[in-house]
Amino acid sequence: TTNYLKHVESMKSLPSGAGKISQLNAVILGEALASEEDDLVFPSDGFSRQALVPSPQKYLEMYKRSIEDPAGFWSDIASSEFYWKQRWGDHVYSENLDVRKGNIKIEWFKGGITNICYNCLDKNIDAGLGDKIALYWESNEPGFDATLTYSQLLGRVCQLANYLKSIGVRKGDAVIIYLPMLMELPIAMLACARIGAVHSVHVSSSFMQKRVVFAGFSAESLAQRIMDCKPKVVITCNAVKRGPKTIALKDIVDAALIESAKNGTSADVCLTYENQSALKRESTKWQEGRDIWWEDVIPKYPTTCDVEWVDAEDPLFLLYTSGSTGKPKGVLHTTGGYMVYTATTFKYAFDYKESDVYWCTADCGWITGHSYVSYGPMLNGATVVVYEGAPNYPDPGRCWDIVDKYKVTIFYTAPTLVRSLMRDGDEYVTRYSRKSLRVLGSVGEPINPSAWRWFFNVVGGSKCPISDTWWQTETGGFMITPLPGAWPQKPGSATFPFFGVQPVIVDEKGVEIEGECSGYLCVKSSWPGAFRTLYGDHERYETTYFKPFPGYYFTGDGCSRDRDGYHWLTGRVDDVINVSGHRIGTAEVESALVSHPRCAEAAVVGVEHEVKGQGIYAFVTLVDGVSYSEELRRSLVLTVRNQIGAFAAPDKIHWAPSLPKTRSGKIMRRILRKIASRQLDELGDTSTLAEPGVVDQLIALADC
Ligand code: ATP
Ligand code: MG
Repeated sequence: TTNYLKHVESMKSLPSGAGKISQLNAVILGEALASEEDDLVFPSDGFSRQALVPSPQKYLEMYKRSIEDPAGFWSDIASSEFYWKQRWGDHVYSENLDVRKGNIKIEWFKGGITNICYNCLDKNIDAGLGDKIALYWESNEPGFDATLTYSQLLGRVCQLANYLKSIGVRKGDAVIIYLPMLMELPIAMLACARIGAVHSVHVSSSFMQKRVVFAGFSAESLAQRIMDCKPKVVITCNAVKRGPKTIALKDIVDAALIESAKNGTSADVCLTYENQSALKRESTKWQEGRDIWWEDVIPKYPTTCDVEWVDAEDPLFLLYTSGSTGKPKGVLHTTGGYMVYTATTFKYAFDYKESDVYWCTADCGWITGHSYVSYGPMLNGATVVVYEGAPNYPDPGRCWDIVDKYKVTIFYTAPTLVRSLMRDGDEYVTRYSRKSLRVLGSVGEPINPSAWRWFFNVVGGSKCPISDTWWQTETGGFMITPLPGAWPQKPGSATFPFFGVQPVIVDEKGVEIEGECSGYLCVKSSWPGAFRTLYGDHERYETTYFKPFPGYYFTGDGCSRDRDGYHWLTGRVDDVINVSGHRIGTAEVESALVSHPRCAEAAVVGVEHEVKGQGIYAFVTLVDGVSYSEELRRSLVLTVRNQIGAFAAPDKIHWAPSLPKTRSGKIMRRILRKIASRQLDELGDTSTLAEPGVVDQLIALADC
């Protein structure tokens, strides 16, 4: 057993059978959870009573089984909750995660024959959910919306699937999808899955962006993807409205196809959806022979389509990582394990109930949109809200307007949005009822405790547990996450591992550290949703993820574990700052800065320092209406000193009206490091930035 399991074992003396978390408090607090008493936030009795996992005991019991008998744990779920045309072979899984023992290989349910689209749609319809709303679609413009039931969705998916087959797309072929958050995006993904084609969704919008989109950058990276996977067809739309701005998506595809053609690769067909609210077809540039209007052809195809049955280990999709740290990696996921894992993590981490209305603000172009807009929820037969626009358009109250309109019960978003809405003021939140909400979620970066509290108190009215889900494109689904009814939470901690996941913290030499500690986060043994390779580059897969600490999957993230066993993500290990021998995670200093009432967002990097080795350089964005001053600088530094210690006090505060972020809204410290050390000619690849203009603005303010 793992150290972690030993740790939870030691907590076994807890009383059993009690759904009443608060009565357990005293016991838990007295025993194992003694450290930061004030920071514990308990689910209400009422919440825990109805929860799928109502108590720490229940979690421990299930977790223990998942680790001691992974084959039994996962095959029970796989066989009872999914449809398999044919059951898997002799082994539920087989794996080698140790480079010293040969090639890295992970397989789950090999030999099992299934189809994820069938499990999302046909199976739920057979179970009586045909008339249940599958998708609520909300347009960028308030007042425009649409719905699809599960049966209607199946019809649409089949029409597109039939069309794709008619133009020769076969099992294993790649299809590139470059669509905004229209219903056609999940439809396209499901249609590919139905016929065994491998989709590669390219993100078309920036999470928080209302205005700017840099078509040039998008075309370049799209061209690279086209050359990488050589699709027969690219599926796009003519244009999209994002906030007040119209973006001609098809122009970007045209440019990308010209670019890729120069290198000998092009798609035969560009299937284009006419997004009438954004641009009429008369105004769309068109290439006869290659371009096809979706609306002209797809509705002519039959609304039924036989499923292409695939092996559990056949590829489902290819997706590039966010590119926060460098050039994006083409992550490949297969069918069976991913299906079982996303559905199960969705169900437990959000305590899913059939009556829930679920909204995840992520774009389907990110892994979050794959696993937790499309597959995870739909495998559970959930009702999903798909929102086309920016979360702060036309004003910062839009999210809560949507929550009230659809009576959203589960709301899942990113810390960057939470911080931005917090900066905009409570009144945008409190003017809406939000009374339908029962579970909140966060993903993408560590959520600063002060942002966590605001999300919990103001948005959730102090009654909704927050699932702070730590995971990666590579992991397919949640890895460390609260189960909302089970554990008391600590603001800013992703808490405990999901079933079947064995996180370990290792030191520089790759030796596991036990108990309360801090180090490199790795994972021991595989889980069903793990990625199987980097597309076309298995060697890079092994080198990046399995060679740094032989025997483990290395996540690239730093993590500390407190004496209660809670996990705290400290940021990327490449970003750790070493000040006079103190190793400091970026997340800790940033959280201290953000706790200052006048600081809205912060990003911290290390710079060379003559005496200390490294010094701390902090970029800060201020709350609206506050101006930067010497007095504020001192007060910010003092906040960090008081909360962490003198060694963590920033040497330099750099006022940043906004920060460079990836299109999924993550801060790009790699670029900030270059600005901080004034290596301006070495900014590197900026193609994954949402707004490259931010960089010039920061450089201009460097010596303010
Ligand atoms: P790239 O790998 O291309 O540099 P990326 O790591 O940002 O980009 P993703 O796979 O989208 O690409 O993001 C996963 C990373 O996001 C994690 O490794 C972690 O650093 C961060 N992350 C995600 N969720 C959380 C969370 N709940 N708490 C802390 N960090 C998180
Ligand atoms: Mg990563």
